[in-house]
Amino acid sequence: MPAQLLDGVALSKKIRTEIAARGAIVTAKGVRPGLAVIVVGENPASQVYVRNKVKACEDVGFHSVLERYSAELGEKELLARIATLNTDPAIHGILVQLPLPEHIAAERVLEAISPEKDVDGFHVANAGALMVGQPEFKPCTPYGCMKILESIDYPIRGARAVIVGASNIVGKPMAMLLLQAGATITICNSKTRDLAHHTKDADILVVATGKPKMITGDMVKTGAVVIDVGINRLPDGKLCGDIDFDAVRYIAGWITPVPGGVGPMTITMLLMNTLEAAEKASKPSSSL
Ligand code: NDP
Repeated sequence: MPAQLLDGVALSKKIRTEIAARGAIVTAKGVRPGLAVIVVGENPASQVYVRNKVKACEDVGFHSVLERYSAELGEKELLARIATLNTDPAIHGILVQLPLPEHIAAERVLEAISPEKDVDGFHVANAGALMVGQPEFKPCTPYGCMKILESIDYPIRGARAVIVGASNIVGKPMAMLLLQAGATITICNSKTRDLAHHTKDADILVVATGKPKMITGDMVKTGAVVIDVGINRLPDGKLCGDIDFDAVRYIAGWITPVPGGVGPMTITMLLMNTLEAAEKASKPSSSL
């Protein structure tokens, strides 16, 4: 029997309805959630991502600002713009779309965003807070994957979770969230020996490598939950994930499609983080 499809579009729709309702409450208190999205350069994928993020904000009634800069923008100018947004009371979340042009140090830019407005959860302070189990903002993609598991009431506690990919924005925070939910985790990277030995043992398999269809049917345990974070464009222009979907769907118990799985959930959790930042700002004790 084929795996059950984990439909990120349908789940997003449900969560975005809740976000819009909570957003309306905080807006009525005079704090309309606001997100600033900055993109530097002409990377076509980035342009699509930022447009989708801004549209998602509009759909739930949030304020949003999209700032597009040419690839020639200097790092100093970008840092100055972030400093201004850090103190702008109409903005609760700041997102700088990666990748940045080579002459700009992404780490310096991410560290310049105030941790209270770091809705991507990439600031070192937020990464550290996540490590000790007190995240201010959970990085959106892993947060979305946790929501997918929650949507099927998957018993994470005691489950064996294998994460393939160890980036700071997906693999590592994913591992932390699963660990904190009680899973026994293994994180694999490009140097891992006998990858299939690990993946075949996974009750929960999350793959974020950017290597099209690298996880084949024989690498997956029967009945596993398989979450595909990868977004790859094939030579024919079609999108595919890091999982060989057509083969793995006959082995797994649940599987996310690409597109329509983790992608929409990432944007949904960005909205959630922006909402939570605005809710915090609306509290009288907030220093913002
Ligand atoms: P990175 O390139 O930063 O990291 C890739 C990770 O995968 C690295 O840890 C690398 O190992 C590991 N890796 C690469 N090849 C292999 C291999 N053959 N076996 C095991 N591990 C391997 O990528 P990101 O984490 O930024 O993104 C991963 C994918 O997820 C991309 O396709 C990206 O487009 C997609 N993505 C999707 C999002 C969504 O919303 N759906 C959001 C963010 C990313 P090593 O550390 O040894 O180099």
